[in-house]
Amino acid sequence: MKASRVIGTILGILLIVFAVGAYFSDEPSSKTDTGRIAILGAFLFGLFTIGGNLGSTKKKQEVRLPEVKTVVNTMTCPSCSKPVSADFTVCPYCATPLSPKCPSCGREVSSDFKLCPYCGTSLKQ
Ligand SMILES: [Zn+2]
Ligand SMILES: [Zn+2]
Repeated sequence: MKASRVIGTILGILLIVFAVGAYFSDEPSSKTDTGRIAILGAFLFGLFTIGGNLGSTKKKQEVRLPEVKTVVNTMTCPSCSKPVSADFTVCPYCATPLSPKCPSCGREVSSDFKLCPYCGTSLKQ
């Protein structure tokens, strides 16, 4: 992998050197529109080759960044206002049910719902 990147970078530099050299050469083909487009193409391709080779190392490091999974699923207890995990079903500080489940259908409902929105069962106790 590393060797191919070095080769790719060298290839890109060679393409740019070739393009610049061809542009300033006295060859008549480099003075035509087609010749210039070809030179520009080679120059840009060289730049992209180098950029792609240098960028690929950076990209691989950036992809590994979002591994810190800390304060994502946090919520506040409606009763004592302390931060609790959204995975908790009961507040560990004041024992308030955080995400009560409908006794009839078992789906998660909000603690201030009077009725289950899924099956209509009364949740008031
Ligand atoms: Zn609480
Ligand atoms: Zn229900």
